Amino acid sequence: MKILVLNCGSSSLKYQLIDMETENVLAKGLCERIGIEGSRLKHQPAGKEAVIFDDYQENHSVSVKMVLDALTNPEYGVVKSMKEINAVGHRVVHGGEYFANSVIITPVVIVAIEKCCDLAPLHNPANLIGIHACEEIMPGVPQVAVFDTAFHQTMPKKAYLYGLPIKAYTDYKIRRYGFHGTSHSFVSKRVAEFLGKPVEDLKTIVCHLGNGASICAVDGGKSVDTSMGFTPLAGLVMGTRSGDIDPAILEYYANKEGLTLSEVTTVLNKKSGMEGLTGGKSDFRDLEEGYEAGDQACIDAIEVFCYNVARFVGAYAASLNGVDVIAFTAGIGENSGFVRGKICEYLGYLGITIDAEQNSKRGEDIIISTPDSKVTVCVIPTNEELMIARDTKALVEAQRS
Ligand code: ADP
Repeated sequence: MKILVLNCGSSSLKYQLIDMETENVLAKGLCERIGIEGSRLKHQPAGKEAVIFDDYQENHSVSVKMVLDALTNPEYGVVKSMKEINAVGHRVVHGGEYFANSVIITPVVIVAIEKCCDLAPLHNPANLIGIHACEEIMPGVPQVAVFDTAFHQTMPKKAYLYGLPIKAYTDYKIRRYGFHGTSHSFVSKRVAEFLGKPVEDLKTIVCHLGNGASICAVDGGKSVDTSMGFTPLAGLVMGTRSGDIDPAILEYYANKEGLTLSEVTTVLNKKSGMEGLTGGKSDFRDLEEGYEAGDQACIDAIEVFCYNVARFVGAYAASLNGVDVIAFTAGIGENSGFVRGKICEYLGYLGITIDAEQNSKRGEDIIISTPDSKVTVCVIPTNEELMIARDTKALVEAQRS
């Protein structure tokens, strides 16, 4: 079975075609600047040079057509015809309280995704455009929606309710939803497999540290708390997002700077975090270079980041009443031994000791704690696309049987 995984943003589309017999990626790519001058498609067939197509992509339907043309192209393609693509798995950002699992897309599912557009106005409409484009171009091919929020639907009420007037929840559905669920689900399952232990027996804290970053407390394979909230702005101090702040700052800062609430929210999303603290650096490679060179803003930003991660790990060790495994993943979590090491320096009270040599490795499943460490600390590269493809395969096979 070959599955096309699509991740549609407002002006972009990322894809992977995965052969599920081997779980190998046959080709992957990215459409950028959809509907904007200068559109391009970068198509990367496995083991071959990437190809760039720079035809104008008026909308996502045009982009999906171009992707299918690239995948079936006699020279750069990896399948003979579209008929070889058995199903499509879509990343959908927000499933609200409607979806606790991935689902086969039906008209009823589409209505529910539409209802969640209010909760994720930048993302869900783009995801829907991708779904409709596939329906039009590949009629009859089963499509599956995999939600960023679904894994966290197991959180208990005490973890997802905010201390607001209850009508905020009952009338407006304002609650903690959590995001990066596909990654937290993948990593918490993979770490159990890697350690050879049943996932049901493990209390795991997953630290997904990328440009967007979140932490998840996973008890026996189920999310019981997570640091992102109603939106992905909450929790950790991130690349460009502020993470948790005193909510009274919004009005105060708006008044000082003469901004509207919506403009302040943009500052919190795009001009804060590492970027805001350093006046322009959000990539951890640049931040680490600055740290080494003694740049005080970079030093402060990295200290804030690592301290905040450690703070959440501590909180979730309490939520879980103990922790067996801490797993680092995503761009920073997988690549920066420096950041992992700094975070773990705070965790000595949990009986954690780190093996410096193991911690200097990257790009593979590894244990970075010493054999006598009371908590096992691992690096587990995340693979959201593979998780989407696996869910898609399972649902399509279940529907067939
Ligand atoms: P997102 O998916 O949220 O955009 P990623 O998971 O791709 O984020 O992570 C991107 C971040 O990973 C970059 O901003 C960079 O800070 C960090 N990163 C990538 N490679 C390295 C590295 N070798 N050392 C330190 N940080 C890295």
